[in-house]
Amino acid sequence: MRVFCDFDGTIAKVDTTDLVLTRLADPAWEGLEERWTRGEITAAECMRGQVALIGGDDTALDAVLDTVELAEGFAAFVAWCQAHHVPLTVVSDGVDHFIVRILERHGLGRLPVIANHLVGNGELGRRLEQPWSRAGCAAGSGVCKCQVAARSDERANDLRDLMVFIGDGRSDFCVSGRADLLFARDKLAAYARSRAMPHHEFSDFHSITATLAAAHERLARRAAI
Ligand SMILES: [Mg+2]
Ligand SMILES: [Zn+2]
Repeated sequence: MRVFCDFDGTIAKVDTTDLVLTRLADPAWEGLEERWTRGEITAAECMRGQVALIGGDDTALDAVLDTVELAEGFAAFVAWCQAHHVPLTVVSDGVDHFIVRILERHGLGRLPVIANHLVGNGELGRRLEQPWSRAGCAAGSGVCKCQVAARSDERANDLRDLMVFIGDGRSDFCVSGRADLLFARDKLAAYARSRAMPHHEFSDFHSITATLAAAHERLARRAAI
């Protein structure tokens, strides 16, 4: 079992990038958002443009990030994964510095994070690098989550390699169809319903931990036979 988990709106209660843009960016960021909504630019282009518009020095940026709270039960979920040797990776179309800063403040700085990479600072200007993008990604995201969560073919039939995905938004659509076990809320839950994809709706991480613990036990029993 391997778990991939979205960050904004899933682990973090708010969308961190939107929060930072609202507080610190030149208002032109909203125009980019509208162009993305109309389909004129990709999500990846939108994010690059928006990050370049973030003002304020690093102290101001960190002060905004330090207001972000985590979803109920997330820390206990991380502890469960560690205790059961279940690898957990945060995979986000957000910004790596934002995510790491917030996780560190909650004592979770050791979690692996795959996200867009922030370069620069308030003085020199900020820009976004997208090492996880993939040409042809249906989501057009800076981070192609389906590529990140892909598994090699020889492991595809191994139940122990069960892929679990947890998410809430549009950047999760491309990967959700590949998950063996899908936890969804908000836009992702609506998407899963519209496609008749099996999924568990969640509101906090306590229910996810309970469901995964039961699945993990079933797998362990099967492996012991
Ligand atoms: Mg999200
Ligand atoms: Zn993709």
